[in-house]
Amino acid sequence: MAQAATARASTPKVQQTKLLIDNQWVEAADGKSFSTYNPATGEVIAQVAEGSAADVDKAVKSARRALESGPWSTMDAADRGRLLYKLADLVEKHANELAALESLNCGKTISDSKGDMEGVVNTLRYYGGWADKVEGRTIPVRGSFLSYTLRQPVGVVGQIIPWNFPLLMLAWKWGPALTCGNTIVMKPAEQTPLSALRLGELAIEAGFPAGVINLINGFGETAGAALVAHPGVDKIAFTGHVDTAKIIQKQAADTLKRTTFELGGKSPNVVFADADMDAAVAGAFHAIYFHGGQCCTAGSRLFIEKKVHQEFVERLAEKAKTRKIGDPLDPSTQQGPQVSQEQMDKILHYVELGQKQGATLLTGGERFGDRGFFVEPTIFDNVKDDMAIARDEIFGPVVSVLPFSGVDEVVARANDTTYGLAAAIWTKDIDKAHLFAKNVKAGTVWVNCYHVVDATTPFGGFKMSGQGRENGEAAIEHYTETKTVTIKLG
Ligand code: ADP
Repeated sequence: MAQAATARASTPKVQQTKLLIDNQWVEAADGKSFSTYNPATGEVIAQVAEGSAADVDKAVKSARRALESGPWSTMDAADRGRLLYKLADLVEKHANELAALESLNCGKTISDSKGDMEGVVNTLRYYGGWADKVEGRTIPVRGSFLSYTLRQPVGVVGQIIPWNFPLLMLAWKWGPALTCGNTIVMKPAEQTPLSALRLGELAIEAGFPAGVINLINGFGETAGAALVAHPGVDKIAFTGHVDTAKIIQKQAADTLKRTTFELGGKSPNVVFADADMDAAVAGAFHAIYFHGGQCCTAGSRLFIEKKVHQEFVERLAEKAKTRKIGDPLDPSTQQGPQVSQEQMDKILHYVELGQKQGATLLTGGERFGDRGFFVEPTIFDNVKDDMAIARDEIFGPVVSVLPFSGVDEVVARANDTTYGLAAAIWTKDIDKAHLFAKNVKAGTVWVNCYHVVDATTPFGGFKMSGQGRENGEAAIEHYTETKTVTIKLG
């Protein structure tokens, strides 16, 4: 087994800051750029080209050309798969550098970033394998006809991703899109463009033809909105905030684009008294504090059965106090900074609101240090279902503890939210586990585990947590159009 690294990862060199259009690295049409920051220090890392509508238009035209003419349009499906395998190999080869770049720009700990790189490789390989397995059907129609279906790419897809898992979100979107033969214009999050740009370089090295993958850095209201409005874009795949999804859905209506959304959550994590307590404490901790709570699946509503409530919160608070916060590039660090000043301020605002509304602040609640955007692991006890900290997605290391008494009660309360992304239950009772899994309204349910997400399994939300599914075969559905061909016989 490989030994865990103990030395600080070296600060990576930023190699690419431009836009990728038609396999060329170019400055923005209007020459604009914006700063990208290191959230651990608040310092500027680099200036990055800032795309706007004119750049989006060029990228969409390039993606259209690649879709309709040129090598990609006639490439054997198996060869598309081979390109994805090559890209996966390159990510594997450069995993340490990419992980360090991710930690530098996004603030996640180096160990979490390395975990993300494994996820990126797995995703690209998984979808590489799909390329020559996307099949149509023959259908027994009435009359003297032969009917069959073809599964064809949706076309030029616009992909808009967030800052919390920059490369993993990229892989979840590139993998299924490319394996099905689509072409891409992607807008990385304005906070974290650097790793995507490095992957653009690796995609060229892997051999993806010009126009298949385009990258436009920039802001949501300009570059993002231009991508959504562009009549040459056939589909928008979006991961981000629910309020942004509402804007995108309205704007996409003008051209009736296909849309898929992976949005936020306020996920219930339910601990019964009969659970393995050591596992449940560790699991509840991981559920909320993984990546400083900056996960759409964060277990931010922690329901604890009253019989074990006191003991459980005490153990959780003890653990929170020992968490090592600091430099994301140091392998012993357990929690890095939040991604930005804006996110840190939002979290601290919710901490204030929780106290004002009468919840008990058990531990944490403060900014950590005076440099960078760190927040202490925070626990609110005795939270009521209608408090803001129990209803809104905070996207930070803040958990709301909600005591409960029975299964029916907790299922009803777990479902009393506009979200429905994930849910978890900790119990040794198989009946409770299955009843909960069946009745909770969430796209993913974990039993005695948390945050287990794999390229092979569908991922997405019920209700306002999204539309459509990523990963697994489900994503293939969303990146293909079904065409029925009917032939008269005799
Ligand atoms: P977050 O709160 O995670 O930053 P956002 O929804 O604001 O969530 O951002 C997710 C992605 O959506 C980012 O790439 C951002 O630039 C983009 N985005 C924001 N506003 C818009 C918009 N109006 N149209 C298209 N994309 C947008």
